Amino acid sequence: MTWNFQNTYCKLSPILFRQVMAKTFPHPQICLFNEGLTHQLNLDSHLLQSQQGILWLSAQQLPPGAQPIALAYGGHQFGVFNILGDGRALLLGEHIDHRGNRWDIHLKGTGPTPFSRGGDGLAALGPMLREFLVSEALHYLKLPTTRSLAVLTTGEEVYRHNERLPGAILVRTAQSHIRIGTLQLAALISHDVLKELTNYTITRHYPWCLQENNPIYCFLSQVIDRLAHLVAQWMSIGFIHGVLNTDNMSISEETIDFGPCAFLDEYIPSLVLCSRDREGRYRYENQPNVTEWNLLCLIQALSPLIAAQNTNNVTDLTQEMLMHYRKRYQHYFNEIFCKKIGLKPNYPESVEMIHLLLKWMEGAKADFTNTFFWLTYHKESKNFWEKENSYLKALKVNFDEDFFHWYHKWRSLLEKQGTTLLDSQSQMREINPVIIPRNHLIEKAIHMAQKNHSIEEVKALWVALQNPYSVPNEGARFLKMVTPHPYQLPPQEHERVCQTFFGT
Ligand code: AMP
Ligand code: MG
Repeated sequence: MTWNFQNTYCKLSPILFRQVMAKTFPHPQICLFNEGLTHQLNLDSHLLQSQQGILWLSAQQLPPGAQPIALAYGGHQFGVFNILGDGRALLLGEHIDHRGNRWDIHLKGTGPTPFSRGGDGLAALGPMLREFLVSEALHYLKLPTTRSLAVLTTGEEVYRHNERLPGAILVRTAQSHIRIGTLQLAALISHDVLKELTNYTITRHYPWCLQENNPIYCFLSQVIDRLAHLVAQWMSIGFIHGVLNTDNMSISEETIDFGPCAFLDEYIPSLVLCSRDREGRYRYENQPNVTEWNLLCLIQALSPLIAAQNTNNVTDLTQEMLMHYRKRYQHYFNEIFCKKIGLKPNYPESVEMIHLLLKWMEGAKADFTNTFFWLTYHKESKNFWEKENSYLKALKVNFDEDFFHWYHKWRSLLEKQGTTLLDSQSQMREINPVIIPRNHLIEKAIHMAQKNHSIEEVKALWVALQNPYSVPNEGARFLKMVTPHPYQLPPQEHERVCQTFFGT
């Protein structure tokens, strides 16, 4: 029930990290606390919320066994390589839970480190609450992600865009914080450091590869497979990460770093909200391509080790690996999206139905989540679209003639594949969320917390996000005549979030 730290990362070459201490804060206090996660970590939630716990979670006092470090890494930021590192965060240590699972306990917003590059090393409350809400939402949507244990206010103000905002710390957990950019930095340092960090990474995350003839090859294909799966999952819920630099891509398949992330409301594949992404490099539809580009960086970083182990030449192997990625991505995309419309996966006619639906959604500017929601929960009845007209309008699904053409084709295909509407809908319920952390909901809740000092809206949203697959009002199960839950509604024009910003 108490901390059980190991610090294996500290045994690596010291060039990969720096020992650091947190800044002294006037009055750290818990703002949001994830009790459920403490059970998984086998930590005492009362103790963590006590005065002692607060001092630990803000690193004002070190928990027993902790050895705080800032991690060094590099990364291609918008295509340009930079030497980076934890500029405003520290790793307390690796906590081992009662099942033997290893969790990095990482604090963000704890003050400057040798990697701060002129930044203040601090974090404002809004972005930390945003990361808490979105990472936890992804977890409950069954996606691999870092988790959030707590947000604390520091009692100090931070200055952002000529504004004074409450300072905060996010306590997050991760399988590890090894990013593609960490291996890129190791490759830049020396062959020995690259070899050391790669061995460490394989042992920590892909230990079965050590039994293979060619562990590096095995490791690469596993990372490729997992990242292909992760991106397909993002696409399936309309998630736009926003800043897929190689330092924001974890080697362990977890979604990491939630600065300018967003969700699709209307289905606009070219949507880009991140203020700094002028060329749309990280737009929704480009995420699979950018991930391939990032994987190419990983392959390049590992190429000295590949060359040492492999009989094939590195160029052939690179081509083979990228082809592997494209195939795996397509496989997962088809599998997940077929499930979203209740069709048998990987049949050409099922896949065609996905693309036809997406094309219709794009043309009609239909709401992404609510279109799948409606397909999942609608009840067959005559002229339902007329009866449910106001409901559909509220959900912004905008059905038209073309949609009904698709709908009838879909229903025939379901029949041809031997499934009933009800059976396919029960499968679809497991994958099509009712509630997602829509951009305007998050913004509104954060605004209330940051400007009005009221955390209630954040808490209410967080509760709803823990049950994304249930219809909040049971009566709404068959839609008719029922008002949608407010969290299901796409933004009104004045609520629309047009830009998202880095979490600084
Ligand atoms: P991010 O965009 O959050 O992934 O951050 C990119 C890099 O900038 C990372 O190395 C961060 O540690 C660093 N960074 C971000 N914000 C700050 C800050 N306020 N002070 C110092 N470093 C920062
Ligand atoms: Mg980052």
